[in-house]
Amino acid sequence: MGRPMGGGSPADAACIFCRIIARDAPAHVVYEDDRTLAFLDAFPVTRGHVLVVPKRHVDRLLELPEDEYGGFLKAVARVCQRVERLSTHYNVSLNQGELAGQIVFHLHFHVIPRYGEGTPQWGRPRNALKDDDARDLLGSLSAS
Ligand code: AMP
Ligand code: ZN
Repeated sequence: MGRPMGGGSPADAACIFCRIIARDAPAHVVYEDDRTLAFLDAFPVTRGHVLVVPKRHVDRLLELPEDEYGGFLKAVARVCQRVERLSTHYNVSLNQGELAGQIVFHLHFHVIPRYGEGTPQWGRPRNALKDDDARDLLGSLSAS
């Protein structure tokens, strides 16, 4: 089911997240280190929804070399620290495989702030991120 497993190449021209990492596609970047990039989800479940991705192209967590787990989790934690500026309540989630809702086959953790909204809009279609809100969010999230 789904795409064949990738081999973990540094960049995959057909992959939207690799294109963002290469700065060939636009994104609102909130965090970056040697091996990780985090940017605002273009169709946020809640305001401030961030995706954290390894710069190495792998489809799934279990394709990431084990010695990169630590650095990746540290980056996720850094993003959580920033998201706490919006709300100390948030979900961190990982969808693996089509049946679990994965639609972009480049590993990514979602960090989704929660504000006490009743039923978050998990499904699709969702509203697109607006440019002016993205600018406001970058002001809160991108500074270290
Ligand atoms: P998943 O369902 O776990 O594969 O999540 C993929 C996420 O990527 C969804 O929440 C999409 O809204 C988001 N997404 C897709 N394309 C882009 C893009 N170009 N920039 C930012 N987020 C994107
Ligand atoms: Zn990729």
